Amino acid sequence: MPSDLLEHARRAKGFMPEDEGDLLYRVARERLPHGPALEVGTYCGKSGIYLGAAAREVSAAGTPATVFTVDHHRGSEENQAGWEHHDTSVVDAEFGLMDTLGQFRKNIARAGLENHVIAIVGQSTTVAAHWRTPLSLLFIDGGHGTEPARDDFLGWPRWVDAGGYLAIHDVFPDPTEGGRPPYEQIYLPALASGQFTEIDVVGSLRILQRTSGSAGDPVG
Ligand code: SAH
Ligand code: MG
Repeated sequence: MPSDLLEHARRAKGFMPEDEGDLLYRVARERLPHGPALEVGTYCGKSGIYLGAAAREVSAAGTPATVFTVDHHRGSEENQAGWEHHDTSVVDAEFGLMDTLGQFRKNIARAGLENHVIAIVGQSTTVAAHWRTPLSLLFIDGGHGTEPARDDFLGWPRWVDAGGYLAIHDVFPDPTEGGRPPYEQIYLPALASGQFTEIDVVGSLRILQRTSGSAGDPVG
C-alpha cells in the first residue's frame, strides 16, 4: 500500500483494520486490470481508499481502473443513536439522520482518488436490481442485520465475473467475536452454492473466488 494513501486511510473514520485493508488493496490490484470493482458499504471511504489505491496503480500502469461504492449514507442499524458504533459527528442536524456522504467526499478528494472511486448513493437493493456490469471484485461490507445481509447476497454476488473475487467483511464463525449475518447470510451460502472457493483470509475479511458460473448467473 503506497505510504501517501495509507496515511489518508489511517486518518479516515471507519471500520477497516490496517492488515485487512492491505489485503483488500492487494486483491484489488490483482483483479482491477480485468474490470471494475464494487463495494457495498462506503461509510466515510476508509476501505474505499485501499481499493482506490489499487485503482490508481492499475491505471498508472495503463489500464483505466474504477471502483464503484454503494451506500445510502444513512448508516446501518448498529450506527444509529444508542448503538455501539454511533458517532455524533456524522449526524445531519436538520433530519436527525446520519449523513456520511460529505466525509466520504472529503476523504476521497484529499486522497486524490476522485477519478478512481465513484460514489453511488442509494439503497443497495435498488442499485443491485438495476446493475448489469460484470465485476472483477465485489466487496460486501454493508448492512449487517439478517435481512440486509441476505439482500446483499441475493443482489450482488451473481455479478462477479468468472475468476473474479467476492470479498466479505465482518465474517465471524465464532459468535463470541461478532454478529452472525455476514457469516450466515453471505459467506456460508456463497460456499454452499458451489460457485465460490475461499482463497484468502485476514481477520474477519474473507476472499472467495468465483470458480464456476459467470456474471449474470444466479448464485445459490
Ligand atoms: N467499508 C466502510 C464501513 C462500512 S459501514 C469502512 O471501511 O469504514 C456499513 C455501511 O453500510 C454504512 O455506511 C451504511 O450506511 C451502509 N448500509 C447499510 N445498509 C445499507 C443498505 N441497505 N443500502 C445501502 N447502504 C447501506
Ligand atoms: Mg465492516
